[in-house]
Amino acid sequence: MENCLFCRIIEGELPCEKVIETSHYMAFKDIHPKAPVHVLIVPKRHVERPEELRPEEIGDMLVGSEEIAQILGVKDTGYRLLFNIGKHAGQEIDHAHLHLLGGAPAKGMY
Ligand code: 5GP
Ligand code: ZN
Repeated sequence: MENCLFCRIIEGELPCEKVIETSHYMAFKDIHPKAPVHVLIVPKRHVERPEELRPEEIGDMLVGSEEIAQILGVKDTGYRLLFNIGKHAGQEIDHAHLHLLGGAPAKGMY
């Protein structure tokens, strides 16, 4: 979608630190990491909310999260997968994306 930051990254118009990519998503490092390991798993198709994703897209993203955790060395220590949805969750970018956070103990749930 025009003027969507994540669409522009996926199209290659803007740079990113890519971890892995499939036909359904691109995973790249968050520019302002909130944990020692912070990756964004971003579907290639522009949708605003995760419930708009197709089962094969969400399935591929979840399977990919384990591979990303393995690549970045947090698979054994553990990590968090998180969708921010809407205002109270602090969603900044209106292109659904799954956060993978790890590398240190999380400081609580909320
Ligand atoms: P949200 O709050 O929408 O769930 O998460 C958006 C995330 O995108 C934030 O963690 C923010 O740091 C990250 N972000 C914002 N702009 C960029 C960018 O240009 N490149 C990358 N790699 N991450 C970004
Ligand atoms: Zn987009």
